[in-house]
Amino acid sequence: MTNRIFYTKPSITQLETDYAADAAATGWGARCYDYINRFERDFKTYLGSDFAIATSSCTGAMHMGLAALGIGEGDEVILADTNWVATVSPIVHLGAKPVFVDVLPDSWCIDPEEVERHITPKTKAIIATHIYGNLCDMDALLEIGKRTGIPVVEDAAEAIGSVYHGRRAGSMGAFGTFSFHGTKTLTTGEGGIFVTSDGALYERVLTLSNHGRARGQTKQFWPDAIGFKYKMSNIQAAIGCAQLERVEELVARKREILAAYMVRLSALPGISMNPEYSGTINGAWMPTAVFHPSTGTTREMMQQAFEAANIDARVFFYPLSSLDMFEDRPENANAWSIPGRAINLPSYHDMSEADIDRVAATLLEMAAGRTYHNSTALRRSV
Ligand SMILES: *Cc1c(COP(=O)(O)O)cnc(C)c1O
Repeated sequence: MTNRIFYTKPSITQLETDYAADAAATGWGARCYDYINRFERDFKTYLGSDFAIATSSCTGAMHMGLAALGIGEGDEVILADTNWVATVSPIVHLGAKPVFVDVLPDSWCIDPEEVERHITPKTKAIIATHIYGNLCDMDALLEIGKRTGIPVVEDAAEAIGSVYHGRRAGSMGAFGTFSFHGTKTLTTGEGGIFVTSDGALYERVLTLSNHGRARGQTKQFWPDAIGFKYKMSNIQAAIGCAQLERVEELVARKREILAAYMVRLSALPGISMNPEYSGTINGAWMPTAVFHPSTGTTREMMQQAFEAANIDARVFFYPLSSLDMFEDRPENANAWSIPGRAINLPSYHDMSEADIDRVAATLLEMAAGRTYHNSTALRRSV
Protein backbone atom coordinates (compact mmCIF):
# COMPACT_ATOMS: atom_id res chain seq x y z
CA MET A 1 0.00 0.00 0.00
CA THR A 2 1.22 3.52 -0.74
CA ASN A 3 1.79 5.97 2.11
CA ARG A 4 -1.26 7.88 3.34
CA ILE A 5 -1.34 11.53 2.33
CA PHE A 6 -2.70 13.62 5.21
CA TYR A 7 -4.61 16.81 4.49
CA THR A 8 -2.74 19.05 6.92
CA LYS A 9 0.20 18.75 9.27
CA PRO A 10 2.21 21.61 10.82
CA SER A 11 5.69 22.54 9.64
CA ILE A 12 7.86 22.32 12.76
CA THR A 13 11.61 22.93 12.69
CA GLN A 14 14.43 23.12 15.23
CA LEU A 15 13.54 26.79 15.78
CA GLU A 16 10.07 25.95 17.17
CA THR A 17 11.38 23.19 19.44
CA ASP A 18 14.26 25.41 20.65
CA TYR A 19 11.92 28.26 21.56
CA ALA A 20 9.42 25.90 23.23
CA ALA A 21 12.22 24.29 25.25
CA ASP A 22 13.52 27.70 26.27
CA ALA A 23 10.04 28.80 27.37
CA ALA A 24 9.62 25.59 29.38
CA ALA A 25 13.03 26.01 31.03
CA THR A 26 13.14 29.76 31.67
CA GLY A 27 9.73 31.29 30.95
CA TRP A 28 8.49 31.54 34.51
CA GLY A 29 8.37 34.12 37.29
CA ALA A 30 9.42 37.54 35.99
CA ARG A 31 9.72 36.10 32.46
CA CYS A 32 6.34 34.34 32.31
CA TYR A 33 4.94 36.73 29.68
CA ASP A 34 8.10 37.24 27.58
CA TYR A 35 7.11 35.11 24.59
CA ILE A 36 3.47 36.24 24.79
CA ASN A 37 4.50 39.91 24.67
CA ARG A 38 6.90 39.22 21.81
CA PHE A 39 4.33 37.22 19.85
CA GLU A 40 1.70 39.95 20.20
CA ARG A 41 4.20 42.65 19.21
CA ASP A 42 5.53 40.73 16.20
CA PHE A 43 2.08 39.69 15.04
CA LYS A 44 0.60 43.18 15.06
CA THR A 45 3.68 44.44 13.22
CA TYR A 46 3.29 41.70 10.62
CA LEU A 47 -0.39 42.48 10.21
CA GLY A 48 -0.22 46.27 10.29
CA SER A 49 -2.65 46.58 13.22
CA ASP A 50 -2.09 48.71 16.31
CA PHE A 51 -3.08 46.18 19.00
CA ALA A 52 -3.07 42.40 19.49
CA ILE A 53 -4.15 40.06 22.29
CA ALA A 54 -3.03 36.42 22.05
CA THR A 55 -5.77 33.94 22.97
CA SER A 56 -6.34 30.24 23.50
CA SER A 57 -8.32 30.04 20.25
CA CYS A 58 -9.88 32.04 17.44
CA THR A 59 -13.27 31.15 18.89
CA GLY A 60 -12.30 32.84 22.16
CA ALA A 61 -10.97 35.90 20.33
CA MET A 62 -14.28 36.20 18.42
CA HIS A 63 -16.29 35.69 21.62
CA MET A 64 -14.48 38.54 23.41
CA GLY A 65 -14.54 40.83 20.37
CA LEU A 66 -18.30 40.47 19.89
CA ALA A 67 -18.86 40.88 23.65
CA ALA A 68 -16.77 44.08 23.60
CA LEU A 69 -19.00 45.40 20.79
CA GLY A 70 -21.84 45.01 23.29
CA ILE A 71 -23.62 42.23 21.40
CA GLY A 72 -26.20 40.33 23.41
CA GLU A 73 -29.82 39.28 23.79
CA GLY A 74 -32.09 40.52 20.99
CA ASP A 75 -29.26 41.50 18.64
CA GLU A 76 -28.61 40.04 15.19
CA VAL A 77 -25.25 39.23 13.61
CA ILE A 78 -24.99 38.59 9.87
CA LEU A 79 -22.52 35.95 8.67
CA ALA A 80 -22.03 33.64 5.70
CA ASP A 81 -23.91 30.34 5.72
CA THR A 82 -20.63 28.79 4.48
CA ASN A 83 -18.55 28.82 7.64
CA TRP A 84 -16.97 26.73 10.35
CA VAL A 85 -19.21 26.39 13.42
CA ALA A 86 -16.61 28.32 15.47
CA THR A 87 -17.76 31.54 13.82
CA VAL A 88 -21.35 31.18 14.96
CA SER A 89 -20.99 29.68 18.44
CA PRO A 90 -19.86 32.95 20.11
CA ILE A 91 -22.95 34.69 18.67
CA VAL A 92 -25.17 32.02 20.21
CA HIS A 93 -23.28 32.06 23.54
CA LEU A 94 -23.91 35.83 23.75
CA GLY A 95 -27.64 35.27 23.29
CA ALA A 96 -27.74 37.00 19.90
CA LYS A 97 -29.32 35.67 16.73
CA PRO A 98 -27.14 34.53 13.81
CA VAL A 99 -28.49 35.54 10.40
CA PHE A 100 -27.04 33.24 7.74
CA VAL A 101 -26.76 34.68 4.25
CA ASP A 102 -25.58 33.24 0.94
CA VAL A 103 -22.04 33.31 -0.45
CA LEU A 104 -20.72 34.32 -3.87
CA PRO A 105 -20.36 31.43 -6.34
CA ASP A 106 -16.70 32.10 -7.16
CA SER A 107 -15.04 33.22 -3.88
CA TRP A 108 -17.36 31.16 -1.60
CA CYS A 109 -17.31 34.22 0.70
CA ILE A 110 -20.24 36.29 2.00
CA ASP A 111 -22.29 38.09 -0.70
CA PRO A 112 -22.43 41.85 0.12
CA GLU A 113 -25.82 42.24 -1.60
CA GLU A 114 -27.23 39.50 0.60
CA VAL A 115 -25.77 41.26 3.65
CA GLU A 116 -27.51 44.46 2.63
CA ARG A 117 -30.84 42.65 2.13
CA HIS A 118 -30.74 41.16 5.64
CA ILE A 119 -29.90 44.27 7.65
CA THR A 120 -32.55 45.16 10.23
CA PRO A 121 -32.62 47.67 13.10
CA LYS A 122 -31.36 44.76 15.28
CA THR A 123 -28.21 44.09 13.21
CA LYS A 124 -25.18 44.75 15.44
CA ALA A 125 -22.31 43.25 13.42
CA ILE A 126 -21.38 41.71 10.07
CA ILE A 127 -18.78 38.94 10.10
CA ALA A 128 -16.59 38.60 7.02
CA THR A 129 -14.99 35.15 6.98
CA HIS A 130 -12.18 34.79 4.45
CA ILE A 131 -12.95 31.19 3.64
CA TYR A 132 -10.02 28.86 2.81
CA GLY A 133 -7.83 31.97 2.39
CA ASN A 134 -10.12 33.51 -0.27
CA LEU A 135 -10.83 37.17 0.38
CA CYS A 136 -14.24 38.71 1.02
CA ASP A 137 -15.22 41.74 -1.05
CA MET A 138 -14.04 44.11 1.70
CA ASP A 139 -14.63 47.32 -0.27
CA ALA A 140 -18.34 46.52 -0.58
CA LEU A 141 -18.65 45.27 3.01
CA LEU A 142 -16.78 48.22 4.56
CA GLU A 143 -18.89 50.61 2.49
CA ILE A 144 -22.06 49.00 3.92
CA GLY A 145 -20.55 49.23 7.39
CA LYS A 146 -19.69 52.87 6.98
CA ARG A 147 -23.09 53.80 5.58
CA THR A 148 -25.08 51.91 8.24
CA GLY A 149 -22.76 52.30 11.22
CA ILE A 150 -22.68 48.51 11.68
CA PRO A 151 -19.21 47.18 12.52
CA VAL A 152 -17.70 44.74 10.00
CA VAL A 153 -15.43 42.22 11.72
CA GLU A 154 -13.10 39.72 10.07
CA ASP A 155 -12.77 36.03 10.84
CA ALA A 156 -9.32 35.63 9.33
CA ALA A 157 -8.70 32.20 10.91
CA GLU A 158 -7.97 30.76 7.48
CA ALA A 159 -6.44 33.83 5.87
CA ILE A 160 -2.97 34.48 7.23
CA GLY A 161 -0.94 35.63 4.23
CA SER A 162 -3.97 36.88 2.30
CA VAL A 163 -3.69 40.53 1.21
CA TYR A 164 -6.47 42.79 -0.11
CA HIS A 165 -5.17 45.77 -2.12
CA GLY A 166 -2.17 46.21 0.17
CA ARG A 167 -3.94 45.46 3.45
CA ARG A 168 -3.66 42.14 5.23
CA ALA A 169 -6.74 40.06 5.93
CA GLY A 170 -7.74 40.67 9.54
CA SER A 171 -6.50 44.27 9.60
CA MET A 172 -9.38 45.94 7.76
CA GLY A 173 -12.46 45.51 9.96
CA ALA A 174 -13.36 46.81 13.44
CA PHE A 175 -11.37 43.82 14.64
CA GLY A 176 -9.93 40.61 13.23
CA THR A 177 -9.41 37.14 14.66
CA PHE A 178 -6.94 34.40 13.72
CA SER A 179 -6.59 30.73 14.61
CA PHE A 180 -3.33 28.91 15.30
CA HIS A 181 -4.95 25.48 15.55
CA GLY A 182 -2.76 22.60 14.39
CA THR A 183 -4.42 22.54 10.97
CA LYS A 184 -3.80 26.19 10.18
CA THR A 185 -0.92 27.69 8.13
CA LEU A 186 0.76 29.08 11.27
CA THR A 187 0.26 27.05 14.44
CA THR A 188 0.80 27.07 18.18
CA GLY A 189 -1.00 23.73 18.62
CA GLU A 190 -4.12 25.46 19.85
CA GLY A 191 -4.27 29.24 19.90
CA GLY A 192 -5.57 32.41 18.37
CA ILE A 193 -5.25 36.18 18.40
CA PHE A 194 -7.48 39.25 18.51
CA VAL A 195 -6.28 42.27 16.51
CA THR A 196 -7.63 45.80 16.17
CA SER A 197 -6.53 49.37 15.54
CA ASP A 198 -9.35 50.76 17.72
CA GLY A 199 -7.77 51.74 21.03
CA ALA A 200 -11.03 51.83 23.00
CA LEU A 201 -12.10 48.40 21.71
CA TYR A 202 -8.66 47.03 22.57
CA GLU A 203 -8.98 48.29 26.17
CA ARG A 204 -12.40 46.65 26.53
CA VAL A 205 -11.15 43.30 25.20
CA LEU A 206 -8.02 43.53 27.35
CA THR A 207 -10.19 43.93 30.45
CA LEU A 208 -12.52 41.12 29.38
CA SER A 209 -9.52 38.87 28.67
CA ASN A 210 -8.21 39.37 32.18
CA HIS A 211 -11.30 38.15 34.04
CA GLY A 212 -12.77 41.63 33.85
CA ARG A 213 -9.88 43.26 35.71
CA ALA A 214 -9.21 46.71 34.23
CA ARG A 215 -5.62 47.68 33.52
CA GLY A 216 -5.70 50.70 35.86
CA GLN A 217 -7.31 48.82 38.75
CA THR A 218 -4.84 48.93 41.65
CA LYS A 219 -6.96 46.92 44.09
CA GLN A 220 -5.69 43.32 43.98
CA PHE A 221 -8.01 40.51 42.88
CA TRP A 222 -10.71 43.04 42.04
CA PRO A 223 -12.62 42.37 38.80
CA ASP A 224 -14.80 45.25 37.62
CA ALA A 225 -16.92 43.01 35.39
CA ILE A 226 -17.43 39.35 34.52
CA GLY A 227 -14.84 38.59 31.86
CA PHE A 228 -13.31 35.63 30.10
CA LYS A 229 -10.28 33.38 30.45
CA TYR A 230 -9.04 32.73 26.93
CA LYS A 231 -5.31 33.25 27.35
CA MET A 232 -2.45 31.78 25.37
CA SER A 233 0.35 30.19 27.39
CA ASN A 234 3.95 31.40 27.16
CA ILE A 235 5.04 28.01 25.78
CA GLN A 236 2.46 28.18 22.97
CA ALA A 237 3.55 31.76 22.25
CA ALA A 238 7.17 30.57 21.99
CA ILE A 239 6.18 28.18 19.21
CA GLY A 240 4.21 31.04 17.66
CA CYS A 241 7.26 33.34 17.69
CA ALA A 242 9.25 30.75 15.76
CA GLN A 243 6.41 30.19 13.28
CA LEU A 244 6.04 33.94 12.82
CA GLU A 245 9.74 34.27 11.92
CA ARG A 246 8.96 31.71 9.19
CA VAL A 247 5.57 33.10 8.13
CA GLU A 248 6.65 34.21 4.66
CA GLU A 249 8.07 30.74 3.99
CA LEU A 250 4.96 29.02 5.41
CA VAL A 251 2.59 31.07 3.24
CA ALA A 252 4.80 30.79 0.16
CA ARG A 253 4.72 26.99 0.37
CA LYS A 254 0.90 27.00 0.69
CA ARG A 255 0.68 29.17 -2.40
CA GLU A 256 3.10 26.91 -4.25
CA ILE A 257 0.96 23.86 -3.48
CA LEU A 258 -2.24 25.58 -4.68
CA ALA A 259 -0.47 26.69 -7.87
CA ALA A 260 0.84 23.15 -8.45
CA TYR A 261 -2.70 21.75 -8.20
CA MET A 262 -3.99 24.40 -10.59
CA VAL A 263 -1.37 23.53 -13.20
CA ARG A 264 -2.26 19.85 -12.98
CA LEU A 265 -6.05 20.23 -12.82
CA SER A 266 -6.81 23.24 -14.99
CA ALA A 267 -7.55 21.04 -18.01
CA LEU A 268 -10.46 19.39 -16.18
CA PRO A 269 -13.70 20.76 -17.59
CA GLY A 270 -15.93 22.57 -15.11
CA ILE A 271 -13.41 22.76 -12.24
CA SER A 272 -12.73 25.93 -10.29
CA MET A 273 -10.31 26.46 -7.44
CA ASN A 274 -9.49 29.22 -4.92
CA PRO A 275 -9.58 32.49 -6.89
CA GLU A 276 -7.03 35.30 -6.69
CA TYR A 277 -8.46 38.59 -7.97
CA SER A 278 -6.21 41.35 -9.31
CA GLY A 279 -4.67 43.44 -6.55
CA THR A 280 -5.04 40.63 -4.01
CA ILE A 281 -2.94 37.74 -2.70
CA ASN A 282 -4.59 34.49 -1.64
CA GLY A 283 -2.84 32.93 1.38
CA ALA A 284 -4.04 29.57 0.02
CA TRP A 285 -4.69 27.88 3.35
CA MET A 286 -6.76 25.12 1.82
CA PRO A 287 -6.71 24.26 -1.89
CA THR A 288 -10.30 23.45 -2.81
CA ALA A 289 -11.80 22.07 -5.99
CA VAL A 290 -15.40 22.91 -6.87
CA PHE A 291 -17.01 21.26 -9.90
CA HIS A 292 -19.73 22.85 -12.00
CA PRO A 293 -23.10 21.06 -11.60
CA SER A 294 -23.00 20.13 -15.31
CA THR A 295 -19.98 17.86 -14.69
CA GLY A 296 -22.03 15.50 -12.55
CA THR A 297 -19.06 15.22 -10.16
CA THR A 298 -20.19 14.71 -6.57
CA ARG A 299 -18.52 14.96 -3.17
CA GLU A 300 -19.20 11.24 -2.66
CA MET A 301 -17.46 10.27 -5.91
CA MET A 302 -14.41 12.28 -4.88
CA GLN A 303 -14.42 10.91 -1.32
CA GLN A 304 -14.54 7.37 -2.71
CA ALA A 305 -11.72 7.98 -5.17
CA PHE A 306 -9.48 9.54 -2.50
CA GLU A 307 -10.23 6.85 0.06
CA ALA A 308 -9.29 4.18 -2.50
CA ALA A 309 -6.02 6.07 -3.18
CA ASN A 310 -5.21 6.35 0.57
CA ILE A 311 -5.50 10.13 0.53
CA ASP A 312 -7.22 12.34 3.14
CA ALA A 313 -9.69 14.72 1.54
CA ARG A 314 -11.89 17.00 3.54
CA VAL A 315 -15.47 17.85 2.71
CA PHE A 316 -16.34 21.49 1.98
CA PHE A 317 -18.11 23.14 4.95
CA TYR A 318 -21.77 22.18 5.22
CA PRO A 319 -24.00 25.27 5.41
CA LEU A 320 -24.39 26.21 9.08
CA SER A 321 -28.14 26.64 8.59
CA SER A 322 -28.35 22.92 7.74
CA LEU A 323 -27.15 21.97 11.24
CA ASP A 324 -29.81 20.62 13.59
CA MET A 325 -29.44 23.62 15.93
CA PHE A 326 -30.61 26.07 13.27
CA GLU A 327 -33.44 26.55 10.84
CA ASP A 328 -32.72 25.42 7.25
CA ARG A 329 -32.09 28.23 4.78
CA PRO A 330 -31.89 26.39 1.44
CA GLU A 331 -32.59 29.72 -0.29
CA ASN A 332 -28.86 30.31 0.34
CA ALA A 333 -28.45 28.46 -2.95
CA ASN A 334 -24.67 28.64 -3.35
CA ALA A 335 -23.92 27.71 0.25
CA TRP A 336 -26.28 24.75 -0.06
CA SER A 337 -25.16 23.57 -3.49
CA ILE A 338 -21.36 23.94 -3.52
CA PRO A 339 -20.52 21.40 -0.74
CA GLY A 340 -22.14 18.59 -2.73
CA ARG A 341 -19.67 19.06 -5.59
CA ALA A 342 -16.52 20.20 -3.81
CA ILE A 343 -13.54 18.82 -1.93
CA ASN A 344 -10.56 20.21 0.06
CA LEU A 345 -7.23 18.84 -1.14
CA PRO A 346 -4.23 17.93 1.08
CA SER A 347 -1.79 20.84 1.45
CA TYR A 348 0.68 20.33 4.28
CA HIS A 349 3.98 22.12 3.83
CA ASP A 350 6.19 19.04 3.67
CA MET A 351 4.19 17.18 1.02
CA SER A 352 6.30 16.19 -1.97
CA GLU A 353 5.77 16.88 -5.67
CA ALA A 354 5.03 13.16 -6.02
CA ASP A 355 2.28 13.50 -3.37
CA ILE A 356 0.76 16.44 -5.27
CA ASP A 357 0.94 14.40 -8.48
CA ARG A 358 -0.83 11.51 -6.79
CA VAL A 359 -3.66 13.72 -5.47
CA ALA A 360 -4.12 15.39 -8.86
CA ALA A 361 -3.96 12.07 -10.73
CA THR A 362 -6.70 10.69 -8.49
CA LEU A 363 -9.05 13.52 -9.49
CA LEU A 364 -8.06 13.29 -13.15
CA GLU A 365 -8.64 9.52 -13.24
CA MET A 366 -11.97 9.88 -11.46
CA ALA A 367 -13.08 12.47 -13.99
CA ALA A 368 -11.87 10.36 -16.92
CA GLY A 369 -13.65 7.28 -15.58
CA ARG A 370 -16.85 9.18 -15.17
CA THR A 371 -16.73 10.63 -18.66
CA TYR A 372 -16.23 7.12 -20.00
CA HIS A 373 -19.21 5.76 -18.05
CA ASN A 374 -21.35 8.68 -19.12
CA SER A 375 -20.56 8.22 -22.78
CA THR A 376 -21.29 4.46 -22.59
CA ALA A 377 -24.60 5.25 -20.96
CA LEU A 378 -25.24 7.77 -23.66
CA ARG A 379 -24.38 5.33 -26.45
CA ARG A 380 -26.64 2.70 -24.91
CA SER A 381 -29.53 5.08 -24.69
CA VAL A 382 -29.24 6.21 -28.30
C1 LIG B 1 -10.29 27.22 12.47
C2 LIG B 1 -11.38 28.23 12.36
C3 LIG B 1 -11.93 28.86 13.47
C4 LIG B 1 -11.67 28.44 14.88
O1 LIG B 1 -10.40 28.45 15.28
P1 LIG B 1 -10.06 27.88 16.73
O2 LIG B 1 -8.70 28.40 16.98
O3 LIG B 1 -10.13 26.41 16.62
O4 LIG B 1 -11.07 28.43 17.68
C5 LIG B 1 -12.85 29.88 13.29
N1 LIG B 1 -13.24 30.24 12.07
C6 LIG B 1 -12.77 29.64 10.97
C7 LIG B 1 -13.25 30.11 9.64
C8 LIG B 1 -11.84 28.59 11.08
O5 LIG B 1 -11.40 27.97 9.99
